[in-house]
This record gives sequence, structure tokens and C-alpha cells, in this order.
Amino acid sequence: MLNPQAHTGSYYAATANQETDFAPLRGEQSADVCVIGAGFTGISTALHLAERGYNVHVVEANRVGWGASGRNGGQMIGGIAGETALAKHWGRDVEEIFGELRWEGHNIIRQRVAQYDIDCDLKSGYLDVAIKERHLRDIEYDYERLQAAKFDHEVRVLSASETSDFIGTDAYIGALLNMGNGHLHPLNLCVGEAKAAASLGATLYEQSSVIEIEKRERPRVLTQSGSVTANAVIIAGNAYHALERQMRGIFFPVNSFIIATEPLDDETVAAINPNDVAVCDPNFVLEYFRLSADKRLLFGGRINYFGDDPEFIRKKLRAKMLRIYPRLQSVNIDFAWGGRIGVPVNRVPQLGRVAKNVFYCQGYSGHGVNVTHLAGRIMADAVAGTLEHFDLFAGVPPLRIPGAHLLRKPMVALGVMYYKLRDRL
Ligand SMILES: Cc1cc2nc3c(=O)[nH]c(=O)nc-3n(C[C@H](O)[C@H](O)[C@H](O)COP(=O)(O)OP(=O)(O)OC[C@H]3O[C@@H](n4cnc5c(N)ncnc54)[C@H](O)[C@@H]3O)c2cc1C
Repeated sequence: MLNPQAHTGSYYAATANQETDFAPLRGEQSADVCVIGAGFTGISTALHLAERGYNVHVVEANRVGWGASGRNGGQMIGGIAGETALAKHWGRDVEEIFGELRWEGHNIIRQRVAQYDIDCDLKSGYLDVAIKERHLRDIEYDYERLQAAKFDHEVRVLSASETSDFIGTDAYIGALLNMGNGHLHPLNLCVGEAKAAASLGATLYEQSSVIEIEKRERPRVLTQSGSVTANAVIIAGNAYHALERQMRGIFFPVNSFIIATEPLDDETVAAINPNDVAVCDPNFVLEYFRLSADKRLLFGGRINYFGDDPEFIRKKLRAKMLRIYPRLQSVNIDFAWGGRIGVPVNRVPQLGRVAKNVFYCQGYSGHGVNVTHLAGRIMADAVAGTLEHFDLFAGVPPLRIPGAHLLRKPMVALGVMYYKLRDRL
């Protein structure tokens, strides 16, 4: 990825509040911490570090928020993927430990939006919808768990007809309404956080692809035109990073896609989502949707495709959208795009090291908006020497997928086929 790329043709890029134009890395630089990648993971980590007074430099191959962070569904979903595997590994109920961590990313986002006055259309309200009976049991379980934890936002189980009233479709047999979750404009959040970090003294470089990390007492991060030598390095390139051999093949780089309709009229909005909630189905190969601030339907899902042709994405996803909302038949699709997500086999977010002072942090499956923000705090703690939460994740060895790096497309297609079959059961 040596040639810098512009933002993808997403609704978010077209409606960004501000553009970033940080100069490329040039010459020999020195920092306390060097972060590679300016998505949520990298920027969240950098902001935590800058707030604590560290001299932090962030090196981004393209633009701030260019990767999954600036392209995603914008759904702020609580919880951490892989909790079952974490519980199994640690041989105990992780409920107590993860009770707070599950929602910490949300708290960080809300606090930053308020503190740094970040305009990113942040809204509360989220529906986990059920398609099968077993999903209703999961919803009941989640509801009980939140009640037991004295969750301080409204949570309610909705019947099939209440769900239909809420989101104007009969596609689902029930739902969990959670006002603690929500949705936002992810690119505007990421850029807002980057500007906040810069205002506190962080140095950001764009259009600067890292080509090598020299692992030594003070590691050195190299691009074609410069370097940063630091006490610690954090690799935050997630599914777009291909540099370190030992990090290859430890997750599936899965593509997800989104379409955005033209702005909907008031009558349609009132019929399909009057409460402005985000919606997500429970399948592994899932569909998710919500309204944007200007009342477009943003509809996302997975299609078996690895390219970025908007026409192809538009056609495939529109058919899926119309199955949920046939009334949108005559509505135009203005934007179609895709992005890459890191999905570990055991779903456990991957926090680890490739050398004593070279850390990495990636693989949040579809929960990245929340968990990247938690991860940024954990990585900042790790750099400062507090490893309690870092070790919770780093202690669970990632499952390696032999050949995944070389055979990405067939491997991902096979994995998705397997999960589709499971969804049908
Ligand atoms: C279409 C889509 C929909 C999604 N929907 C949701 C959702 O609704 N809710 C949710 O919680 N999660 C969602 N996700 C997942 C979420 O977006 C990700 O988990 C999260 O954004 C990952 O953030 P990140 O910073 O780790 O990685 P990214 O945002 O991918 O950032 C990595 C950055 O590293 C840079 N980089 C890579 N290699 C190098 C290098 N060698 N040198 C310099 N820079 C480098 C890249 O250019 C990139 O900017 C979705 C993802 C996609 C793709």
C-alpha cells in the first residue's frame, strides 16, 4: 500500500465536517510512542496518550479514518466479541471482569464528544432484532443480564408487533431495545478525535506508509521518506496491515458493505424508523441498518465479493434492503462502498506484542466502534506499564489460520459459507 489512497466513495467521506491534511513523515523523528494507523484504534490510543502528556506520533498510510473506522455502519454496540472463548480460556466466569469493560468504549466516546465538542451525529437507541426462536432466548438472557448489572439506560424486550411498530417491517419476531447503545457518523468522530489529539500536542502524519519496523531497544518505524524512533510502538493497522509476519493469518480479513439511499421523506421516516434507532440482526453473516442525520437509510451487510465496484455493491445490497423494506422500491441509492474487518477465529480481540516494546491491537469483529475505544485506553495503560487489562486479552493466544494470508479469498468465502449454514440452523 505504498501509493496513498483517498477516502472511499462513502456517504461519510461525502459528508465529512472537515478534511485532514497532515504532512507526510519526513526526516528522522523521535517520540515517546509511535502509533501505526490512524483508525479508531490508533487515534483513540494516541488521544489517551496525549491526554497523559506523552509525546506521541501517529503514522498513517492514507488519511485519518481511511480504513474501517471511516466506513463502518456507525453502530455503537456494547459488549466485546469472544467473551465465550475468554471465559473458557480463563476457566472462570468473566462476567465480573467484563461487566464494566463492555460499556467502557461507549463512555469514552460520549465523554470525548462532550469534552472536545465533536460533531458526529451521536444518538442513543438500538434494536437487537430476532429472526428465530433461539434469538428470542438470547434476547431474554441479555435483558436479564443487563437488569442484574443494574444497567443505567432503558432496556426493554419488544414483541413482534412492537418491533414492527418500531421499525416498520414484519421481518423480525421480536427485539431488545437498548438505549445505552446508539449510532454516530464514524468518520467525523475519528477526525474529531484526531484533531483533539493534535491539539494536545500529538503529531500526525498522513500519506506515510510504514514499510518496516526495526526492533531494537528503541524501535524505529520507517517510511520511504522518514522514520520515527520511539520507546514503544503500537501497530494499529488492523485488517489493512500486512507488515509483520507473525501477525499474518491470525484473523479473517472479512469485507462488509453498505449502501446509502437518497434522503427519505418524512412519511417514510415516520413509517420505518420514527425513533431513530440503529438495528442489527443476530446472524453471523448479518445485516444492519439505521438512518443518517439527513435521513438516508444506511443498509449494511456481507456479500460474497472482494472488490469495490459501487454498482455491484448497490445491486446486491439493494435486493437485501428491499426484502426488509419493499416500500423503498423507488428510492435511489446514492452511495455504495465497502471495507475490511478483522475477524479472529475465536472472536477474541487480539492485543499482543511482536517484540518487547512493539505492541499490536486488532480484530474486534463487528464491535469495533466501541472496543477500539476501550482498546486505546488499554494500550495507553500498557505503554505506561499497567498490564492488567492488556494481559486479559494478550493471555489468550490467537488461533492461526494456515495459509490465510496467501489464500485470503477462498478462506474467507469458506468461512462465510460455514457461518451462513450455522445461521440457517
Ligand atoms: C463496512 C463496515 C461496517 C462496520 N460496521 C460496524 C458497526 O456498525 N459497528 C462497529 O462497532 N463496528 C463496525 N465495523 C468494524 C469497525 O469499523 C472496525 O472494527 C474498526 O473501525 C477498526 O478500527 P481500527 O482502527 O483497528 O482499523 P482501521 O479503521 O481499519 O484503521 C487501520 C488504519 O491503519 C492504516 N495502516 C495499515 N497499514 C499501515 C501501514 N503499513 N502504515 C501506515 N498505516 C497503515 C490504514 O490505512 C488504516 O487507516 C465495520 C467495519 C466495516 C468495514
